[in-house]
Amino acid sequence: MTDQLDAMIKAARDARDLAYAPYSKHPVGAAILTRSGHIYAGCNVENAAYPLGACAETGAISAMVMAGERIIDHVVVIGPGDVACTPCGGCRQKIREFAPAEGCKVTICGRDGQVLLETDSHALLPYSFGPDNVHEMQDE
Ligand SMILES: [Zn+2]
Repeated sequence: MTDQLDAMIKAARDARDLAYAPYSKHPVGAAILTRSGHIYAGCNVENAAYPLGACAETGAISAMVMAGERIIDHVVVIGPGDVACTPCGGCRQKIREFAPAEGCKVTICGRDGQVLLETDSHALLPYSFGPDNVHEMQDE
């Protein structure tokens, strides 16, 4: 395991410890590594009006954007158990927005930080719709 992956897993675990998940009892942490080498983390934030809850990946992406960064090279997600806590459909699309053309790595970890799944954004969201699709129409 690389030092960089270790740092991402630690960031995701620390974020998971801060999750606000009183309803599902399913705390999740996410860490994003950007092209510049910085790591941004997020946790899930639930709401009494359930659909308003936000996923961990969403928080990490917001932190990344607020720091002025736009390219995701790697995402780590860590759930509370040992069933792979893969990004939901909405988060797959949100990751796609900032993934480079070649895609980004996605690593899913279990409760104690052990790697359960290593995949990439293309595998999680094949034939995706992204910024190039929108630009195609604007160029006409
Ligand atoms: Zn999600």
